[in-house]
Formats: sequence, C-alpha cells, structure tokens
Amino acid sequence: MNRISNAVGGKLVASSSSRVAAVFDPATGTQTGILPLSTAAEVAAVIENAAAAAEEWGRTPVLKRVRPMFEFKRLLDANVDAIAAAISAEHGKTHADALGEVARGIEVVDFACGMPQLLKGEFSRNVGPDVDSWSHRQPLGVVAGITPFNFPAMVPLWMYPVAIAAGNCFVLKPSERDPSAVMLIWELFRQAGFPDGVLNVVHGDKEAVDAILDHPKIKAVSFVGSTPIAEYVYARGTAKGKRVQALGGAKNHAVIMPDADMDKAVDALMGAAYGSAGERCMAISVAVPIGETTADRLIEALAPRVRALKVGPAGDPAAEMGPVVTKMHQEKVLGYIDRGVEEGAELVVDGRGLTLQGYENGYFVGGTLFDRVTPNMSIYREEIFGPVLSVVRANSYDEAIGLINDHEFGNGTAIFTRDGDAARAFADRIEIGMVGINVPLPVPVAFHSFGGWKRSLFGDHSIYGPEGVRFYTRLKTITARWPTGIRSGAEFNFPSLK
Ligand code: NAD
Repeated sequence: MNRISNAVGGKLVASSSSRVAAVFDPATGTQTGILPLSTAAEVAAVIENAAAAAEEWGRTPVLKRVRPMFEFKRLLDANVDAIAAAISAEHGKTHADALGEVARGIEVVDFACGMPQLLKGEFSRNVGPDVDSWSHRQPLGVVAGITPFNFPAMVPLWMYPVAIAAGNCFVLKPSERDPSAVMLIWELFRQAGFPDGVLNVVHGDKEAVDAILDHPKIKAVSFVGSTPIAEYVYARGTAKGKRVQALGGAKNHAVIMPDADMDKAVDALMGAAYGSAGERCMAISVAVPIGETTADRLIEALAPRVRALKVGPAGDPAAEMGPVVTKMHQEKVLGYIDRGVEEGAELVVDGRGLTLQGYENGYFVGGTLFDRVTPNMSIYREEIFGPVLSVVRANSYDEAIGLINDHEFGNGTAIFTRDGDAARAFADRIEIGMVGINVPLPVPVAFHSFGGWKRSLFGDHSIYGPEGVRFYTRLKTITARWPTGIRSGAEFNFPSLK
C-alpha cells in the first residue's frame, strides 16, 4: 500500500502522525493508499523550512526565478500521461478529462514564466522638482494553498507557479482524497532546479489547515473548496491578519433561449453537466429553458442522451464519465436524488442503482435528469456536485435573470442564444463572476483570472492571471530626491508641487 509522504525542503519526509486517511480507487472501491494527517507541529516545521528559504528566493532576480519555471513546464509536458493517470486512479475522472485538467494547469505555468514582464513597475519622473516616484510589487514571504479533490493537479497549479515566480515560498495542503498527482508534480518541480524549500507539500485535514491559518509566518492563503469551509478559512485567516482568497461552491445555471441552436446547446449541456461526473465547480447543474415550448424541446433532446451516457472506469476509452470520488460522496449524491423525488421534481432519467460488471464496488452514479425543479427545492438550492442536472422552467428572460441573481452562489453561468442583444444584456446584468455566451464552461484562460461572486468567493482577489500576481505581492511606492534638494535645507510644510 502506497504511504504518502510530505515534501519539505526539497526532500520527501514521512509524517509520524498517528492519524491517517485512506485513499481509494473510486472505480473499484479498493484502498490504494495511506495518507498520514500531519500534526500542527509538523505543519509548523514545514512553514519554518519555507520561511528559511523565502528571504533569498524573494531577493533572487525574477529572470533567474523563472528559468527553472521553463524547465518545470517542459517536464510537465513530457509527463502529462503519467500525471493524468495518477489523477484518474484516485479521482476517477476519465483519462481524456484528466489530460484536459493537466493542460489547463500547465497554462498557468506558461503565464508564470512571463513574471519579469508582469512585475514591471510604474515610474514617474519629476513628480516634483528633481523628485522621482516609482511603484513596484514585492513578494509577501511564505504563502499557502489549500486545495479540493476535484482538480488535484490543476487547482494547485492555479496557485504556486504564480506565487513562486512572484518571489514567495509556498506551502501546499492538498486534498486528502487524491494526493498522488500533487506528489508526482512536486517531483518534477524538484527536478526542474528550484532551490529547496520553495515548494513544500504537507498533507492533512482540519488540524493542518488550522495550523496554517494560525501561523504568523504565513502571509497569504489561497483556498479552493466548498463554501462553508471557504467562509471558515476566510474568517479565521483574516482574523489572524492574513490576506485570504477563498473560492467556494457553485450552482451554475445555463439559460436556453427559444432561438438557441438546440443541438449545440444539448451537446454543451451534456459535457458541462455530466463531464467529470458533475464534480466541477464550473459544471452546469441547472438548465433554464425560456418558455414551455423550449423546455419541452430541451427535455425531448436531452433525455435520450442522458440515458445513453457511457459510464465507466477511467481506463475505458469509451467512458464519458467515471465514478464519483468516494463512497460517502456517492451516498450524498444518491440522497439528493431521493430528496428531489420527495420534493416533487419530475425524475426524467434516474441514475440510481447503476452497477458496472467487474466494478460492482465502484462509486458510480448514472446520469440523472430532473424536470420541473422549483427554487424552493433543496436539489435547486444546494450544490450536489454529482451527475445530476435540474431543469427549471422559466416563463421569460427576465425571470431567468432574476432566478440566477437570487441564488446564493455566483461562480459561472452561460446563455445559449443566437441573439447578440440578449447575450450582451445578460452578460451585463447577471451577478456572476464568469459568464459564457454559447460557451458552457467559461473557465478563464491563464492570463485572465478565475473567480466567482457572492458566496462563491470570499476575499477581493480572483485566482491566477493578473489578479493572482496582485494577490501574492504587495505594492511599494518610493519617492526619491537626490542631493541638491536636501542641501537646500529643511522643509516644514506638507510637500506639494511648487
Ligand atoms: P472541501 O471544502 O471538503 O475541502 C477543501 C479543502 O479544505 C481540503 O484540502 C480539505 O482538507 C480542507 N477541509 C475540509 N474540511 C475542513 C475543515 N472542517 N476545516 C479546515 N479545512 C477543511 O471541498 P472538496 O469536497 O474537496 O471539493 C469540492 C468543493 O470545492 C465543491 O464545493 C466545489 O464547488 C468546490 N470547488 C470550487 C472551485 C472554485 O474555483 N470556486 C474549484 C474547485 C472546487
């Protein structure tokens, strides 16, 4: 059984914690790994190690800091298959889907390679007689990332390449459920030639997270996970004087206008609702057709596609989606389907009771489709994070916008239409951080930034892209006058332009 180590100061270090978590292959339900849950003292030692490396790393010229980043990118490119396999083995997503995740993570490494340009400051000559002023951004020191199970490679890569190229040392606390891809990537990072202690990985649960949030040498925390934990991390981290960006859960709606190309909209919904078994923070979990006719056409086109979804283990090239991540999560998703029926939604396709030959103990849930879901139902209000799509019928465009704006989450949304004016007004009025127009998963590219609104993001900064650079650095503005000004004697009035 694979026993997973921490990575501290450039070395693998076994945790001596007596508490452990089991890691499973979700396709078979067999345990494949043991993950020690690090103690607060172990976390503190990791942070001290990072702090010891931080001063020199922060002073290293940015051009030198990005040289190993180019090598890291090359190594990632050369190992995409192995990384994807490590993801699938513990997460369950298909190999093709895992490759997509790795590719989106590598894009952030590309972006971080451009840090010399991104850190260029601003300079104003002669802001007063013989006085110059300039602003530049400096690293914070040691920063941390706490990441969820659903993108075990990509979400950490949203964080540390940017933080590290900007001059910080990083402590990563990955998800307990699928830690192996992180360790494989850490090994590539080490081979790329970064100094020891620049990237450290410490495994654990709440004890480790609290130790990070409370430690005075951690200056900023990036969190991605569910909303209750995001809110907790934000409150505790900021109370300790840290900068915190905490990205939370989602309930992403897709509006289908009567003029939408229905075939394309259905294709888009299939991938966005059921890809990765619905375990994406940008998954579409609510479809909102406008008008009864559009709704009937949508259900008629969707239902056979959902029934025909190919569910299977990651190794099956024909599989369109894999299992969900754990037995507990499978039970939670199945429980939501039961609740939807009890609450009066119309169950058009029932994903309960799916078993696959040879994988009887896997955590599979079949594609599920509900019609006539209403806003008071828990399957509408809460994030299910499984392959369950709810159709909420709206009478008008305005009603759909109101529905989305009233929802507590504000991560992503999409509209399917052929009408430019409807799309433009939608993008303008909708209270959601990321909007797709005929694009179902509007995940911003690495040189833009990713972030939701409302209870999908706590804090001021979105993640990666230019917002990431701002988050991991602080602004310093220097105003300088050289000898002659001082030689002319002391000045007692508040400085102003003469
Ligand atoms: P989670 O909140 O259970 O766990 C996230 C991290 O928090 C993990 O590292 C975990 O160890 C830690 N954690 C869990 N319980 C904790 C506690 N009580 N105290 C302190 N730390 C704790 O999330 P998950 O199930 O791993 O991931 C799925 C969730 O993440 C979904 O809600 C999904 O929408 C969200 N997510 C959001 C985004 C985004 O960008 N907004 C991206 C990916 C996932």
